[in-house]
Amino acid sequence: MKIYLYGLASGYDAEHLIRLFFPLAPVTAEPPAPDEDAVLAGLEGDTLTVTLRRNGEQATETAVYSPDEAVKPDRALADLAYGLLRRHTGIRPPWGKLTGVRPVRLINDARAAGRSEEEIKQEFLHWADCTPEKFAQARLIADVQAPIIRQGSGCKDYSLYIGIPFCPSRCSYCSFVSCNLDRDKKLVQPYVDKLCEEIAEFRRQAQQSGLRLHTIYIGGGTPTSLSADQLRQLMGCVRQNFPLETVREYTVEAGRPDCTDAEKLAVIKEYGATRISINPQTFSDEVLRRIGRRHSAQDILDCYAQARAAGHTDINMDLIAGLPGDTVEGFEQSLRQAIALDPENITVHTLTLKRASRIIIEGQQDEYADVAAMLQISTRLLQQAGYQPYYLYRQKNTLQNLENVGWCKPGHEGYYNIYIMEEVHSILSAGAGGSTKLVHRDSETIQRVFNFKYPTEYISRFDEVLERKKGVTEFYEHCCGTQTSG
Ligand code: SF4
Repeated sequence: MKIYLYGLASGYDAEHLIRLFFPLAPVTAEPPAPDEDAVLAGLEGDTLTVTLRRNGEQATETAVYSPDEAVKPDRALADLAYGLLRRHTGIRPPWGKLTGVRPVRLINDARAAGRSEEEIKQEFLHWADCTPEKFAQARLIADVQAPIIRQGSGCKDYSLYIGIPFCPSRCSYCSFVSCNLDRDKKLVQPYVDKLCEEIAEFRRQAQQSGLRLHTIYIGGGTPTSLSADQLRQLMGCVRQNFPLETVREYTVEAGRPDCTDAEKLAVIKEYGATRISINPQTFSDEVLRRIGRRHSAQDILDCYAQARAAGHTDINMDLIAGLPGDTVEGFEQSLRQAIALDPENITVHTLTLKRASRIIIEGQQDEYADVAAMLQISTRLLQQAGYQPYYLYRQKNTLQNLENVGWCKPGHEGYYNIYIMEEVHSILSAGAGGSTKLVHRDSETIQRVFNFKYPTEYISRFDEVLERKKGVTEFYEHCCGTQTSG
């Protein structure tokens, strides 16, 4: 299946709408041959046309577009394509026409703009064609988030992200920049040294701009790829530079048991983390093997027990629905196992097919079970077990266009996850691949400062990394007229 767009200044909306039905279809610049499966959509004169050609059959719809219309032609074409594709593919996208990654944000923003609950409901159910179940879940999450967003939405509030781009092996679904520890071990120590310098620079920038730190998140990659001593160095640097006693949440991803041990878990606790994440993804040994993990389900159970023994009282576990080789029954077993451990958070992701992942490169993408059924099971079992959804986001190219949902025991909402996903405040991001997002809600300004993607460049061009940090104070001087405090 190909996508061919014509006659538009921008085809962004139409392209992403068509991808709800054909997630991996490439856009082609040339008209496809008459016998090729394709969606052709475009504007000619005042006529919008969408054609679906598939398996030798063809369906076409047209509409008149007037330049006076409030909607742009690309959006009008997307709406036309939605109707045609929904009728002729038999696919009913659960989120309807919503292609964005933050459906909950739409509710939060509409409420902030004073729209009534009825208006918001009409927009989701009728204009967007969202299912009542998805809308109800999004609204419930918006309710849970409201007080947390209020607490963190001051124009000087921020969170700090620290990235560790190393992993013991590469998972088949991974599209992140993550270096293999076996191959790149010699980079780790210089990387940690530079990272500590960058963290200290962020502290200076934040101080100068009068910012208030809310949450810290050390993610990756796999932060526990660092040795226990390197973790001490890094977390010691964080403790030295930031007032942990006033930070509301400090998360460290102890993602994989093949590089997490009792000593590292004790260091993470000792140096002030309040929340960790141990990510089984599945409790099936066979699926773990298929996705390239070099550990067993028993290793995850042992790691979890070690984390509790080290005193961690707020633990998240990530699971993924739709892993290659998994089944609906297998996913349910994994979920029941996670629930039996009684972690404070369980995050259920839907597998995303990224072009850089081994799954796509090696063509394994045809072997997926019913992901929608998996998510329905997760909603039922997690609610029964006393978990509530507290954040939700979608990614492009997610199986069956579904979502990722963070569930928690009440009172254990992961604040950082809400702050980043709802763009509540600035996220200063340290490390290779870091993307600092500066947010000023009052003036609706968002600006990004990027770090180099790969650790080698991050280390060798570190002067430039530091130079770019000046963007933080410049942003706040511009948005808030900050007088520097030195
Ligand atoms: S642990 Fe995460 S970052 Fe590392 S290879 Fe697996 S998916 Fe990628």
